[in-house]
Amino acid sequence: MTEALADVARLTAAETAAAIARGELSAVEATQAALDRIAKVDEAVNAFLHVDTDGALAAAAAVDASRAAGEPLGPLAGVPLALKDVLVARGMPTTCGSRILHGWYPPYDATVTTRLREAGIVIVGKANMDEFAMGSSTENSAYGPTRNPWDLNRIPGGSSGGSAAAVAAFETPLAVGTDTGGSIRQPAAVCGLVGVKPTYGGVSRYGLVAFSSSLDQAGPMARTVLDAALLHAAIGGHDPRDSTSVEVPVPPVVEAAQRRDVRGMRVGVVRELSGDGYEPGVAARFDEAVAVLAELGAEVVEVSCPHFDYALPAYYLIAPSECSSNLARFDAMRYGLRVGDDGDAGAEQVMSRTRDAGFGPEVKRRIMIGTYALSAGYYDAYYGQAQKVRTLISRDFAAAFEQVDVLVSPTSPTVAFPLGSKVDDPIAMYLNDLCTIPANLAGLPAMSVPAGLSEGLPVGFQIMAPAFADDRLYLVGGALEAALDARRGYPLLAAAPGL
Ligand code: GLN
Repeated sequence: MTEALADVARLTAAETAAAIARGELSAVEATQAALDRIAKVDEAVNAFLHVDTDGALAAAAAVDASRAAGEPLGPLAGVPLALKDVLVARGMPTTCGSRILHGWYPPYDATVTTRLREAGIVIVGKANMDEFAMGSSTENSAYGPTRNPWDLNRIPGGSSGGSAAAVAAFETPLAVGTDTGGSIRQPAAVCGLVGVKPTYGGVSRYGLVAFSSSLDQAGPMARTVLDAALLHAAIGGHDPRDSTSVEVPVPPVVEAAQRRDVRGMRVGVVRELSGDGYEPGVAARFDEAVAVLAELGAEVVEVSCPHFDYALPAYYLIAPSECSSNLARFDAMRYGLRVGDDGDAGAEQVMSRTRDAGFGPEVKRRIMIGTYALSAGYYDAYYGQAQKVRTLISRDFAAAFEQVDVLVSPTSPTVAFPLGSKVDDPIAMYLNDLCTIPANLAGLPAMSVPAGLSEGLPVGFQIMAPAFADDRLYLVGGALEAALDARRGYPLLAAAPGL
């Protein structure tokens, strides 16, 4: 690889696309730079489960041919991207990080995949993840953990840890992740990236392998707020193939990302998500970011959302309940793995052997919790109660948004923790999701934006907005990013990784 191409891998998505549009760089060169970078670092990082070299170069060549023919190019045409392995793409395996889907090739494209292809975005491969998106560290992948590019002995967050690590390690400028309880925002936070969970219904779930259907949402991960906005605009919008997709236009996220003016905006610090319980470095970066917003002219107030204290237990009933139903489809008959089909075994026996061999311990734990919570004798006490809490949390948000335009909190209570340190303690692992879960339960958009470092590791700042006001995230995130970069005198990510 030439030095010039080595630098290409470090360009933002917007810079890459602009260089391609100007003819200074071809899409094939941009894609080759990503592939070379993957070849160099991914053995250590393990961000990718599958790299589609031929498909990526062919997609890039098609962008170059369009340009040569004088056809108009989209704003991200030719930019390489890592796709979380929970979204199906024809021509590549989809495993969801699980053994049970080993060797499965989906016969169709997810709507997100179709939109990426239509935008000329080059899908270079499938990103590692916690099995079926259950986890906060990517240690639940059946294919080995992903490592955090900032410190290879630490977790990259999860469940979209492969997507985050790919972008943080400069393997691709963009990734798509999914977020059911924080799985875009928490890995973005601990890898020093921008990650957005759009409003529920804002991005199609068609072709997103379901974990918890009422919570799952795909969204962008990138190194800058503008890049995330461009990707959000490319994948968002109504899809008749997803009945929960809402028929409203994508909010003006790209314009908002560049406006950088938060004067007069009302910013609410959520009392229940601040105070004790955060690592000191996380709390310090959060307080600084809030002070920066105030200096920029935002009006900062404290807001109480009393039911947020119950969000975590409600989520850990609702998500497993939906998962226990959704994962029933992995029955040894329709997809991937089949174990113990020795000729004498009945269908039920093969199903049970396959599920025993094919699912990892966390997925089994969730299926058992969910099945229990939905069982006739306990339904009202567990699932029913959790749904009531969900309504109360939505009401807290509604009341808060009568007072303020956005709500803010830390994204995650800690920076990236060492690999292996929480893997045997599910409750400690679940506590990572404390700040991110309320937005999922209420279906609201939320962003994590880099807020600086704590002992050399990235800290994320969370912004939450009302439904279909996703542009407010980009407005506040863009202003904060610009102010923090200017203050430090260098862009935050220039400080990234030792790879
Ligand atoms: N960490 C949460 C869980 O394990 C969130 C996962 C997600 O958002 N997919 O369920």
